Amino acid sequence: MQTNFTLAQLGDSDTAESEKIMRTCVHCDFCTATCPTYLLLGDELDGPRGRIYLIKDMLEGGKPASATVVRHIDRCLSCLSCMTTCPSGVNYMHLVDHARRHIAETFRRPWRDRMLRRMLAVTLPHRRLFAWSLTLSRLARPVARFLPGRLAPMLALAPSKRARSSPMDRPQVFPAPDARRMRVALLSGCVQPVLKPAINEATIRLLTRHGVEVVVSARAGCCGSLTHHLGEEAPAVKSAKANIAAWWREIEGKGLDAIVINASGCGTMVKDYGFLLRNDPLWAEKAARVSALARDITEVMAELGLLPSVLRTRLVVAYHSACSMQHGQKLEAPPRDLLRAAGFDLREVPEGHICCGSAGSYNILQPILAAQLRNRKLANIGRSGAGIVATGNIGCIQQLEGGLDRPILHTVELLDWATGGPRPAALPPEIESKTGSGP
Ligand code: SF4
Ligand code: SF4
Repeated sequence: MQTNFTLAQLGDSDTAESEKIMRTCVHCDFCTATCPTYLLLGDELDGPRGRIYLIKDMLEGGKPASATVVRHIDRCLSCLSCMTTCPSGVNYMHLVDHARRHIAETFRRPWRDRMLRRMLAVTLPHRRLFAWSLTLSRLARPVARFLPGRLAPMLALAPSKRARSSPMDRPQVFPAPDARRMRVALLSGCVQPVLKPAINEATIRLLTRHGVEVVVSARAGCCGSLTHHLGEEAPAVKSAKANIAAWWREIEGKGLDAIVINASGCGTMVKDYGFLLRNDPLWAEKAARVSALARDITEVMAELGLLPSVLRTRLVVAYHSACSMQHGQKLEAPPRDLLRAAGFDLREVPEGHICCGSAGSYNILQPILAAQLRNRKLANIGRSGAGIVATGNIGCIQQLEGGLDRPILHTVELLDWATGGPRPAALPPEIESKTGSGP
């Protein structure tokens, strides 16, 4: 794609990076066919190529974002399906991130929109505030249908019961019981420990059982992706630096072989810290080192090799690959191979490359499109014929759980169970007889 930036514009490193990305686009339009919002809306401007043109026009002209640009960029899920399809290696992720920052800096949204985004940016990354907001949402449920705009669908996403917080999420070290094979830090996260504390518990049990010492570092928390996708750069950078500082103490102290992440949305973000902080002389090197150490839990487990399964029935499991797992981190084989090795009869979800509509806070900000994608995904899961769904991202679990007639679990909960951990509480007792495919 031809670009016409001035030398002065290219003096800005974000613009120079975006220009480089745009120049790799050859207009072939392959990406449009796999873009979920184009599939739903059929508008060229709601596909990747159309959005790239809009971003190019906005940045080249040095213009504030227009309402049209904002509408089409807001509808983008950042699912990155277009990056998987693109034959030219266009880094749409960095381009749309830049566009979102430009929108946040130059466009004044209607006050309701501003309030909602502020509320999300403040509450979601902070465990305690998020837990309180869930309690408030539950209390407000009976009057939800009288609430304006996007508040009603937001309340519907809050779980009906609050999970008890886990002592395992507090800063501490979990030693490997026998000979130590690895020492890792676990990102315990922000939303996940509040919604599903069982996921970190299963991760820690699984890792220690396989000879890994696990550190939950003090002052490590939200990865920053939730605010990053809202275009709010300062809080995203603050979260990234807090995590890097927390892990750096471990790297310089007893050392780390990996930083383990069990929410693929967070993994995509941490693996990109090096790029995020590339121009910060104090942080660039540390950020690049942290990104190089970042691994999804399934990457680490694939490297370690799974202990023999203790399960006696081959349960039929549909694997839902989160967009951040398949498109963001390009991890296809590790979770599938591990589930098979653990003795599960794995089924694919038809249209597996299409987003479920979760996408960080997208299901709150774009509830209509998110609901359409969710219903499409639920129907496809139904077609898989499996009695259990496994996935590697808390956002997808939360998005799909309420509409499913079968349990949805994190992959680590199944791997932990199969290698000697407790049976996941979300599995009903009769599940073996319903979904087993024989010994
Ligand atoms: S990130 Fe997803 S929604 Fe956005 S343009 Fe690419 S494929 Fe479409
Ligand atoms: S597939 Fe890649 S090169 Fe082709 S139009 Fe889309 S972004 Fe551009």
